[in-house]
Amino acid sequence: MSAGKKWTKKEIRRFADELSAVTVSVNIVVEAKQKILSLGQVEKLLRASKKVAVGDCECRTRVRGCDAPLDVCLYLDEAAKEQIKKGFGKEITLEQAIGTLKRTNEAGLVHLAFADKGKQDTRYICSCCSCCCHCIVGMQKYGFNDSLVSSEMIAVQNDDLCDDCGLCVERCHFKARRMANDHLVFDAKGCFGCGVCLTSCPQDAVSLEKRP
Ligand code: SF4
Ligand code: SF4
Ligand code: SF4
Repeated sequence: MSAGKKWTKKEIRRFADELSAVTVSVNIVVEAKQKILSLGQVEKLLRASKKVAVGDCECRTRVRGCDAPLDVCLYLDEAAKEQIKKGFGKEITLEQAIGTLKRTNEAGLVHLAFADKGKQDTRYICSCCSCCCHCIVGMQKYGFNDSLVSSEMIAVQNDDLCDDCGLCVERCHFKARRMANDHLVFDAKGCFGCGVCLTSCPQDAVSLEKRP
């Protein structure tokens, strides 16, 4: 992979000042009867949108820190119209949007919902990695703690089911999971409730619950 261009502190500060981001918990349920995917909060956001477009991830295109998929940024309503007009997005169906989110969850990416600062309406649903995303890099590298807020959910660990395989450690972009003396250590204070660990656990030892 050829070297990309890293974000500067100033650029990331500008993003954090203009946008607010919240992690969106992944709770993928395949309902066998109807063969539809329910993605909890994300699906609700998508269903409420009149237009959805997909475009390439600007952060990974620029930084090139990993090989995660590029065609993953979902734009809703006005943002979709803008991106289509600029030639950066193409309209997709709800099913295609949900398929994109399932694919990016499998790739271990975190779903973030972005709104303009001070506004409620979600403009983008992004599928982010900690090496390229301006938002996660801003938080982890520069301590911009206003870059991102946690979802209303939090991971809950069932130590009786966990066999300490460590698979979830790499999946957590927020370093809330680590191995110590061959045992999994989960730091709930560092958890953003994205649910990426949950969908990789072979023992079903992780669940998401409403944050107290
Ligand atoms: S915020 Fe996330 S998905 Fe959106 S462009 Fe950046 S890394 Fe890509
Ligand atoms: S432990 Fe990490 S991967 Fe799991 S929900 Fe929390 S932040 Fe996400
Ligand atoms: S993936 Fe599941 S079983 Fe493996 S260490 Fe993590 S919580 Fe435990």
